Formats: sequence, C-alpha cells, structure tokens
Amino acid sequence: MLLLALLECSNPRCEATYEGYGTAAELRGIPCEECGHELEAVAYAEADRACEPIAPRVQPRRAA
Ligand SMILES: [Zn+2]
Repeated sequence: MLLLALLECSNPRCEATYEGYGTAAELRGIPCEECGHELEAVAYAEADRACEPIAPRVQPRRAA
C-alpha cells in the first residue's frame, strides 16, 4: 500500500519537514538532507485517498 507521509527530522535543532510517498518500509530510515538525522513519520495518509491536508506545516517538498 502506498502512503503519503509527513516526515519530521528527529533532530530537535532541525526543523526540516518533508512529504514522502511510498510504502511504510520505504518511508522508514530516510536521512534528513539538512543534517543527516533520521526522519520520523508523524502522519500517514493513504495516497489514493489523500484528499485532505495531513498537516498545516509542510515545507517545500524535498522527499525523494
Ligand atoms: Zn534534519
């Protein structure tokens, strides 16, 4: 199942936020492009039903 995930950097000093698209396994362990810390998925939506915004705070997309 493909998911749309909101990913936040696990580094408390880094405010990078990403949107990722893929399976749950693919969305785990992604390094932050800013600082290299692991990203944490904080919200998921099924991609084929992602008609509602999943979070108000999404920075420009950088997800691979
Ligand atoms: Zn970071």
